[in-house]
Amino acid sequence: MSLSSRAAELRPSPTLAIEAKAKAMRAAGVDVVSLSAGEPDFDTPEHIKAAAAAAIKAGFTKYTPASGIPELKAAVAKHVKASQGLEYEPKQVVIGCGAKHVIANAITALVDVHDEVLIPAPFWVSYPAMVRLAGGTPRIVYADGETRIWNPDEAYLTPVAAGYKLNPASLAKGLNAKTKMVILNAPSNPTGIVYTPAELEGLAAVLREFPKTWILSDEIYDCLVYAGEAKSIAAVAPDLKGRVLLVNGVSKTFAMTGWRIGWALGSEHVIGAIGNLQSQTTSNPTSIAQKAALAALEGPKDSVAAMFAEFKKRRLLIAEGLSKIPGFRVAPADGAFYAFPDVRGLFENPSVASKLGFKPGQPPKGFSSALASHFLESAKVAMVPGGEFGLECHLRLSFATSADNITKAVSRMSESVSGLMKA
Ligand SMILES: *Cc1c(COP(=O)(O)O)cnc(C)c1O
Repeated sequence: MSLSSRAAELRPSPTLAIEAKAKAMRAAGVDVVSLSAGEPDFDTPEHIKAAAAAAIKAGFTKYTPASGIPELKAAVAKHVKASQGLEYEPKQVVIGCGAKHVIANAITALVDVHDEVLIPAPFWVSYPAMVRLAGGTPRIVYADGETRIWNPDEAYLTPVAAGYKLNPASLAKGLNAKTKMVILNAPSNPTGIVYTPAELEGLAAVLREFPKTWILSDEIYDCLVYAGEAKSIAAVAPDLKGRVLLVNGVSKTFAMTGWRIGWALGSEHVIGAIGNLQSQTTSNPTSIAQKAALAALEGPKDSVAAMFAEFKKRRLLIAEGLSKIPGFRVAPADGAFYAFPDVRGLFENPSVASKLGFKPGQPPKGFSSALASHFLESAKVAMVPGGEFGLECHLRLSFATSADNITKAVSRMSESVSGLMKA
């Protein structure tokens, strides 16, 4: 039996795969601390669950319009008006089965076989895979200005000084006549970076020169910003709004990952195409979950504030802890809930490198994965290798876990590094 070429090149999402391995170790009685999860550790707030229960009781259990219920579209538009000052009509809103689904559909709706999609590294792991599924070509742009067609086996190292933000010069280098879409993600998974309005304006100036390029702005972490503000490029550069697809959802803000509700706002033409895709494939997102999402957007926000306060404390705890480990360099995340330490100091340490199977002068390809496996086996701490996000010699550690777990993980990793450094 042979799979389609599209399915054959797909790999499971590495974040989900590592989380599964950690769970299996735990089930076998191993005391694993997992910092690999990409979801809040909090329970969905009670009033949201109650709205879902009420929807079931009231028999709101049938098909809804494929692109979502009008009340939820209106609530989403109201939410974006309040947070970004942007006006959208309900027909410019589509509700899907999570932001992931909406992004995949947006790419399918816009990208043709010879089109390129520009993705700044480090990137959320699913973007390149989605572009390939749609038949397009992911072009990765690195912070040092290098751009390359995506190859899942390659990950590059970026000079520390360049930081993790896409800058106008590298954006300009990556764009060409084939670029159908640019994907921006801030606050970012995995780096936690947030662009300043001036930085977004710099990117917008370059994008003005490419009027046929769409801008997909994944703003799923916009309510989790600890430093700076989460401005949308559509708000900073209103002249580009017509070709921005603004993507968000309830998963991260309201601790609702399992409910699967996300949305996109943008031009009626593209939003309508995404709705058509849904009507021929999934039909509507779950009726009950839509009612829950409506309650989340319209209800009290005190539980969101409490979760935010907790994340804000942990962001410092994890950055302080990790930066004390030799070979680690890390700044507190400005947004989202991940620490993304640069561990090239370990790669450059001869004892560590040789213990992990690397020879002097060898390129770092696979180093983050070897190190993450070492931490899982020797320190019983799970995390995601930076290579999965297109940036070697980095690790992604989620702080969507308790302060106790963070402290425990950091101390175990520190001990494990001491062992690696011993000649
Ligand atoms: C979690 C995440 C998503 C997907 O969210 P869902 O709404 O649960 O599908 C999208 N983009 C990024 C960057 C994420 O981290």
